[in-house]
Parts: sequence; C-alpha cells; structure tokens
Amino acid sequence: MKAGGTSQHRNGTDFARTRAQTARLAGREIDGVALTWVDNSGITRVKAVPAGRLAAAVEHGVGMSPVFDVFLLDDSITDSTYVGGPDGDLRLHPDLDRLTELAAQPGWAWAPADRYDQEGHPHPCCQRQFARRMTEAAREAGFDVRMGFETEWVVVRQTEHSAGADSEPAYATAGPAYGMTRLVDLSGYLADLLRTFQAQGVDVMQLHPEYAAGQLEVSVAPADPVTTADLAVLVRETVRAVTLRHGLVPVFAPVAAAGAVGNGRHLHTSLWHEGRNLCRDGDGAAGMTPTAEAFFAGVLRELPALMAIGAPCAASYLRLQPSHWAGAYHCWGVENREAALRFIPGPSDDPCTANGEVKCFDAAANPYLVTGCVIAAGLAGVHDALSLPAPVAGDPARQHGTERLPSSLTEALKHFQDSTVLRTALGDPLFEAVAAVRRAEAELFAETSPQDLAAAVRHAY
Ligand code: GLU
Ligand code: MG
Repeated sequence: MKAGGTSQHRNGTDFARTRAQTARLAGREIDGVALTWVDNSGITRVKAVPAGRLAAAVEHGVGMSPVFDVFLLDDSITDSTYVGGPDGDLRLHPDLDRLTELAAQPGWAWAPADRYDQEGHPHPCCQRQFARRMTEAAREAGFDVRMGFETEWVVVRQTEHSAGADSEPAYATAGPAYGMTRLVDLSGYLADLLRTFQAQGVDVMQLHPEYAAGQLEVSVAPADPVTTADLAVLVRETVRAVTLRHGLVPVFAPVAAAGAVGNGRHLHTSLWHEGRNLCRDGDGAAGMTPTAEAFFAGVLRELPALMAIGAPCAASYLRLQPSHWAGAYHCWGVENREAALRFIPGPSDDPCTANGEVKCFDAAANPYLVTGCVIAAGLAGVHDALSLPAPVAGDPARQHGTERLPSSLTEALKHFQDSTVLRTALGDPLFEAVAAVRRAEAELFAETSPQDLAAAVRHAY
C-alpha cells in the first residue's frame, strides 16, 4: 500500500502484523473469509475472499460499490445528495484484529471491514470509522466509553407458514416467558449456541427465554464501542448459523408478528476514567458523577432524533408500544423498564455494572451508527453541562405528563433532520444518506397494514 510511503495499511495495521494474523489461518481448514459491513438500512452485506487472498485484501482492499449507502431493506435503491448511483468504487479493508473462525460455519472465518476510497481516504459514509471517531472524541473529552448490546430474537419453525405473508409464525417452542420449559425444549440448540460462542471467544453473560412467544435473548460482555458493534454483527450471524443447523429460523426483526411484544437490541453504556466507573459514586442524579449525568442528559435530549438511528425500520414502531418494556416514552428512570433510558445502579459491591440502558432501540439498526450517535449525543450533553430532569417511576403510560417518543418512522425522521448534533457528528454525506434511506423506507411501507409490514420485514435482518 502506497499511501504515505509507510508500511501501514489504511486501517492502521502493519504488514508484519497482517502476515502473523493471516498465518493463524494456515492449517486451520479455513477456505473463505467473510468481510462484512452494515448498510444504513441495517442489513449486513458481505464480500468473501478465499483464505489465501486475505493478506491481499488487507493491503489493497476489496472492491465494493458506494451505492450500498442508499440500499433499502428490500434491496431496492434510493439516491441522496452526496452518494448513490452506479458510478465509482470503494475498497473494503478487513480489520484482522477481529478475525474470527466461525465455529458454526466450518471452512469460514469472518472479519468486519472499514471502507476507503480508491486513493486510501476514509469513505465519509463508513459507519465503522464514524463509530471509531466518536469513541476517540469521547477519549479527548476525558473518558472511555464501554458499551454492550442485548440481542433478542424469536425462533420459528421452517414451515410454509413461517414464510407466509399473512400468517403468525410457527414458534419453535410453546414454553412460557422466562420458562424453563423453553430451555428444556430447545436444550440441544441452546447448548450448541453457548459452545459456538465460546469457541469464537465471545464472552456471553446471559442466555434466557424472553417474554414474547418463541423469544430468546443473549447478552455479551461490554467492550469499547467499535468492538461492541462488531460483536453485534458476529452475535447475530452466529445465532443465525446455529439456529439454521438445528432446522429452525431466527427472526431478528423488530416484531415477529404485529401486536406481539418485540425484539429489542438495548444498548448499555458506562463511562470510565482511570479505571473508575463514572456512573456511580458521584454527586449527580442517582449517584452518577456530573459527567455521566450530563452524558445521559445529552442522550435523553437527542432521543427523538436518535430513534431514526436506533429504531430505523417502519416496523420498529410496531414494537415501540407502551407497556411492552420497549421504552416508548421519552423519559429516564432508575431501574424502570418502561423508560426509554433505564439507569441501572447495579449491586453496590460491583463497581463495573452501573450503566445507562437505552431500551427503545432494536436490531434493525446499524450498530456502528447506534454506538457512534449515542456517543455524539452524550458528548453534546457533557459540552452543554446538562442535568437530567426528575426520573420517572412506574409505567409512564399510566401517568400524565410524559411524552411519547416518535410513533412512526416519518416522525423520527423529522426529529433526525432537525438534529444539529447528529448532522455535525455524522457529517453531511452520511447524514443525508441515512435520511434518504429512512425517507424511502417510510414511503415503501406507507400504505402497508401492520400485519403485512411485520410479514414483509420478518426475515429481512
Ligand atoms: N422485548 C422487549 C423489547 O422489545 C424488552 C424486554 C426486556 O426488558 O428485556 O425491547
Ligand atoms: Mg430482554
């Protein structure tokens, strides 16, 4: 790679390191490496290279059209002010620090990719580099951000019904919410899932049956924001691979069926300075430090606009119903599962656990946009020295005075378009591409009934 005349790759790794990393694959019976990025509609896209070409892919990148910045979830294409159209090419550069053998896909390894132009400049719409920039901005502001996603999904049977346009899916287990019956029903599958995560070095904290019919959840240990977004991709594809090899199908869409409790992908965030968790032992609200309080006040202020990032699908608003634990109200609360922002003080003898959980987000979201935009909103709160309003206790649906978050994608898009904080952080090209995709998807489903919408996106993610 020529840029700068150094031995550095575009994404900062050096040649010797690349050789050492690719050598790890030698003799491991890996045939192909899947290089993934996530588009603005939340779909993970992929180019694969034979294992022997991985080092070349790191050095020169792999070609990929910029038109994917304006792809919709149904693979139709819109356009935007700065990107789109059939012209041009980008290079995908795999990050070998994340190179992972896929234990449920023998012969395959995976690495997430950063996107650069042909001259080696970062592509302005690269969501992964955006998340990295925001992480660095937080460091410059004096703290490290740790984040973790919880992933929920519904397991259905591979029947004609499960693919039917208007039917309820055929749930793979009839066991009750949090029921041991579900764990026994799906025992072999869930053990395989844990074994596969362990083989891939994914640090699972919990696995459990969730509330909705056929629903499960896995949470993995927190990490830096880019790693956490990478993990969100790896977790979903691992769940998919293991589920399919047990003859079942995972549904990651915001709802598996209209009217059902949905699949969230909640984001947990804590702030750290010199080994100290700033979410506790402070003088701010609920025992946070003033920095953590200002950060979460910034997230809360921006939440209506953040919905266009974290709840990006028309079907996200089928999920976002009051009294569904989805966080439909624009408020925060201490351990309140109906508040969009739930502050979790954690046990007093565990300094690591205190964190803020954004509950209103789902797995249709691009995890790199989610982590980056939440940090941007939090940093704006720190910059403006915001404080949190009074916390809400109890179900806000049963009280007066708490506002709903946007109840449609169109409404979320309006807030997004008015957000100077998010426009400044994302930069115009990425901001406009996201807005264009949201606008086009809102139009795509404008006349669709809730039942048909749920069925249309059920297997998209
Ligand atoms: N399934 C709920 C959601 O849609 C979340 C349940 C929970 O609190 O974990 O977000
Ligand atoms: Mg849950």
